[in-house]
Amino acid sequence: VIEIRNLHKAYGALEVLKGVDMVARKGEVISLIGSSGSGKSTLLRCANLLEDSQAGEILFEGEAVHWKGEGMTRRPGDHDQLIRIRTNLSMVFQQFNLWAHMSILENVMEAPVTVLRRDKAEVETLGRDLLAKVGIGDKCDVYPAQLSGGQQQRAAIARALAMEPKALLFDEPTSALDPELEQEVVKVIKALAQEGRTMIIVTHDMRLAADVSDHVVFLHKGKIEEEGPPESLFGNPQTDRLRQFLSHSQ
Ligand code: ATP
Ligand code: MG
Repeated sequence: VIEIRNLHKAYGALEVLKGVDMVARKGEVISLIGSSGSGKSTLLRCANLLEDSQAGEILFEGEAVHWKGEGMTRRPGDHDQLIRIRTNLSMVFQQFNLWAHMSILENVMEAPVTVLRRDKAEVETLGRDLLAKVGIGDKCDVYPAQLSGGQQQRAAIARALAMEPKALLFDEPTSALDPELEQEVVKVIKALAQEGRTMIIVTHDMRLAADVSDHVVFLHKGKIEEEGPPESLFGNPQTDRLRQFLSHSQ
């Protein structure tokens, strides 16, 4: 679904990604782990073009993505590609980012109706189904502030699913939640993994990473230090840096 090759990203003089390669195949769940500041969010944001990158390649379903690198400008038609990629790589954020002035159902319906121009009645049915699927079918008409953090995050997941994306990108979906609310979100993510959804999950929750991923990537200072199946990364880490990281994150 998405392939990243030799990606470089800097904010001014600060090099954040120093040549990262990552592939997410259809149905694969990838977890991205690493210390604070290692570049996990930046990588996710580059993947769905919330950030420009300076060098490297991003391929979406084999199609080269045009980004606005230094000295480059987007070509006509690139805007359509940007929308297509954002739609297909739907992002779920740590802080939910729901629109406070809209009901939960309106939050879920907003992008499919305004961006994809889909039929409102059809999207409403889809929205209600998705909210039921994440366990808050009775909350369609309330506002985000009336929900718990765990319910808000599940609404945000329903909103991401409403775009019918090819992959879901999660940036620390459970980090803002109390432990007991975390579990209800973990349950939804596990169910999505079971369905064979393609997902990239940035997480500090090593148990979640171990339980749902096919592949785990350990990022350290903008480079992939170690990667592999969860059993070997967590069971038999090869590098001192990963061993050290894991010993601090239990
Ligand atoms: P965390 O676990 O704390 O979320 P992270 O691995 O997601 O960390 P990033 O958010 O990708 O890390 O940040 C990597 C580095 O880039 C950090 O040093 C951060 O300060 C810097 N950075 C991130 N966003 C910006 C920005 N918009 N402008 C300047 N520097 C930034
Ligand atoms: Mg981050």
